[in-house]
Amino acid sequence: MATLGDPKNTIEILQKHGIYAQKKFGQNFLIDTHVLEKIVAAAQITKDDLVLEIGPGIGTLTQYLCEAAGKVLAVEIDSNLIPVLADTLAPYGNVTVLHADVMDLPLSDVLAREAEGRPIKVVANLPYYITTPILMRLLEEHLPLTSITVMIQKEVAQRMAAEPGSKEFGALSLAVQYYAEPYLAANVPPNCFLPRPSVASAVIRLTLRSEPPVSVREPEQMFELFRAAFQQRRKTLANAVGNYTGLPYTREQTAQALESLGLSAAVRGEALSLEQFAALSDALDTVC
Ligand code: SAM
Repeated sequence: MATLGDPKNTIEILQKHGIYAQKKFGQNFLIDTHVLEKIVAAAQITKDDLVLEIGPGIGTLTQYLCEAAGKVLAVEIDSNLIPVLADTLAPYGNVTVLHADVMDLPLSDVLAREAEGRPIKVVANLPYYITTPILMRLLEEHLPLTSITVMIQKEVAQRMAAEPGSKEFGALSLAVQYYAEPYLAANVPPNCFLPRPSVASAVIRLTLRSEPPVSVREPEQMFELFRAAFQQRRKTLANAVGNYTGLPYTREQTAQALESLGLSAAVRGEALSLEQFAALSDALDTVC
């Protein structure tokens, strides 16, 4: 079958099935074969792998995944696209298409059933309206994933990969980097999609860590500290925590905990590394 990455073939399939891209589902179909090849290369897929694809659309990336992986599980929310996928994926015997909202799917059970012991990699050109909830769900549920390689909004990818002290660094950087090692694989301009999105995109690979990179007594409390620090980014961390309703600590207690770590009581959250947030979380338990 001719590749759907060629815009002529994508338009032909859309016309054949009377399909229009639906904005409410974040549908921007990939029409660039080089970008498709880059995604598959970045994902480091082998014939041993089960690939979970979220949002196969008309099957463009799915065809590449079927060629590279042992097995592909593709989860699509839009019922109009299910017959299109039956058509475009007909040549492949190693793909299962599930009609479902990925946010409602019991992923742990579904993946255990489909993987049959294979390593599991997630690969997707994600719908931008729901990127962060999908990724945080995949990370927080401790699913048995090796890596997650996704096309997302460039600005979000930069925030996920940001280092402390940079202007993109924030709660999302810390949360993602607690679970995974990010790698920015490619920048992708709007003209690689049909229709064109209004923002630039990027491919990011998140390699899941087998162990957290820091040890912390109460990870939940550390995550609340991330939120407190970046909800009021321009404030000192002690003030931000003192004002934050999700944590029981005063400004003075936070200042004391910071000083016990050799940090200034006037430091801002954006200057702290993941290790320092973990140490602060533990220090707050002891000073209070
Ligand atoms: N993979 C295709 C490609 O690269 O051309 C389509 C990508 S498009 C950006 C996002 C896809 O995700 C659409 O097919 C959309 O219908 C699907 N989608 C949106 N929300 C979803 C959800 N909650 N669960 C599963 N699929 C979803």
